[in-house]
Amino acid sequence: MTERSSNAGTDNTTGSRWDGNLKPEHRVLIVGSGPTGLGAGVRLKELGHDNFLIVDRNTYIGGLAASFTDDAGFTWDIGGHVMFSHYDYYDKLFDTLMGDEFSLNDRESWVRMFDRWVPYPFQNNIRYLPKQAAYECLSGLIKAQTGQGKVKSHQDATNFGEFIDAVFGEGIAKHFMRPYNFKVWAHPPEMMNKQWIGERVAVLDIDRALKNVVLETDDFGWGPNNRFKYPLKGTGEFYRRMGESIRDHIALDRDVKAIDVDAKIVTFADGSTESYDVLISAMPLDVLCKDVLTGEVPETLRVRAAELRHSSGYMIGIGIKRPCPSTKSWMYFPESNCPFYRVTYLSNYSPYLTPDQTGDNATHYSLLCEVSESEHKPVDAARVVEETITGLENAGLLEPGERDDICDTWLYRAEYAYPTPAVDRDAILSDVIPWLEARGIFSRGRFGMWKYEVANTDHTLMQGVEAVNRLIEGEAETTIGIIYAATEDGREAAIHERPAHAGSGEKRLAGQTVEAKATPAKARG
Ligand SMILES: Cc1cc2nc3c(=O)[nH]c(=O)nc-3n(C[C@H](O)[C@H](O)[C@H](O)COP(=O)(O)OP(=O)(O)OC[C@H]3O[C@@H](n4cnc5c(N)ncnc54)[C@H](O)[C@@H]3O)c2cc1C
Repeated sequence: MTERSSNAGTDNTTGSRWDGNLKPEHRVLIVGSGPTGLGAGVRLKELGHDNFLIVDRNTYIGGLAASFTDDAGFTWDIGGHVMFSHYDYYDKLFDTLMGDEFSLNDRESWVRMFDRWVPYPFQNNIRYLPKQAAYECLSGLIKAQTGQGKVKSHQDATNFGEFIDAVFGEGIAKHFMRPYNFKVWAHPPEMMNKQWIGERVAVLDIDRALKNVVLETDDFGWGPNNRFKYPLKGTGEFYRRMGESIRDHIALDRDVKAIDVDAKIVTFADGSTESYDVLISAMPLDVLCKDVLTGEVPETLRVRAAELRHSSGYMIGIGIKRPCPSTKSWMYFPESNCPFYRVTYLSNYSPYLTPDQTGDNATHYSLLCEVSESEHKPVDAARVVEETITGLENAGLLEPGERDDICDTWLYRAEYAYPTPAVDRDAILSDVIPWLEARGIFSRGRFGMWKYEVANTDHTLMQGVEAVNRLIEGEAETTIGIIYAATEDGREAAIHERPAHAGSGEKRLAGQTVEAKATPAKARG
């Protein structure tokens, strides 16, 4: 392979260069035992490259995809994890490791507003709103889509806020898109780019909206094609089993404090060291560059990476000693009468997530609530559980008096929960990623690559697999590379392609085609 080029203007150091050929004697060090690191490890083993070690500062395997069973016997995930796989490799691995130990669930998602439940996607079910709000939504939509809105067209939009105005119009923006997205992202939508949306947000067709209102048609985002698998003992069980399959290659409780890019040596918090030839890192890219890399590292690189933005998240589990009152899967909350943006009836995913652990959850159920945090949206950690319970009452999820039946609360804070797709994100990645790769450091995963649009468990696991395929077999990585192209319904959909700037900077291989993946809209973690 040829030397990778940097288009960043930051690559004016020499450092210890990586020539692109992974040889059997090369040591691969993987930082992070989440889906990315595990995907890389499992693939290395499959391809017969045994010289690797996965290190993690946690004492458990799975990263953000781990599950925890608390003292009261409830099992919790770090936010409602739903598996919508885009990959055969992922599906086969799941089948191999999980056998029949999973449940198959119907997606049933709702939006809570105006003291009522509106089926998701909100924009297709405007008829459920009070008449004044429904009128504002439809009127705004018609104005927006006929060029009479604040922003003339989605092509003119320079950020996510303008995209919302251009595509949905003022009414939907006011009642749902703006308040909901601020609650999720904890950043003003004007700070975010519009490209991440791709297949995440169901974009509205004006005729469909009118038809649904006038003909009173239901237009739910769920049905037989929208089922998802869920491991019976929690999301993390799949990753725990992945870890078991390569357990000899995993070292837990090892906190990486420094990576010398010249000497290719990693130093841990306890002073111990490991050397490497190639490093695959799933730690947050900003932390890696500004706090961990040592040696000949340009200051501009550290400064650039530090400009990446993220939000934190509180996961609040509420265990209740009552039979579950609902068949819902998860719900969205745009209004300010509760702190959370999303709540999952987690116990509806599997009968094994409540205290008796025998598969009978008839006597208990569990709600998993998610609250975001950033400098733009502070959260009082000491009060977040109580505010969540009050919010559940305000939002009609807890009946009057049901508070007395709460038998468990669980709280987890993720400093890095959502990688913000900020307007300058791709430019930062195009500066930082090639510089690292030229030194044999492959930063991949939810916060390693910082691409929310490819940051679910299937994407991140495959980022690890594809990184290894590239190192050993010279195959192009397809997940991390994204270009954006207008689709027929006016979206800027993500098309998974050879990376234009965020990956290696290599040219697309001759004969490789670009294929749009027209998967249905999904709004998930
Ligand atoms: C609230 C929320 C909801 C989500 N919902 C869904 C969903 O519905 N469906 C879905 O598919 N995905 C979902 N995800 C995404 C999923 O959790 C991620 O895709 C996945 O966990 C990312 O894997 P990763 O390996 O890239 O990173 P992580 O899971 O973050 O793993 C990184 C690992 O690196 C380790 N590490 C970091 N720094 C160091 C260091 N200095 N030294 C040693 N180790 C270090 C960490 O301890 C961690 O274990 C959700 C995530 C969140 C936060």
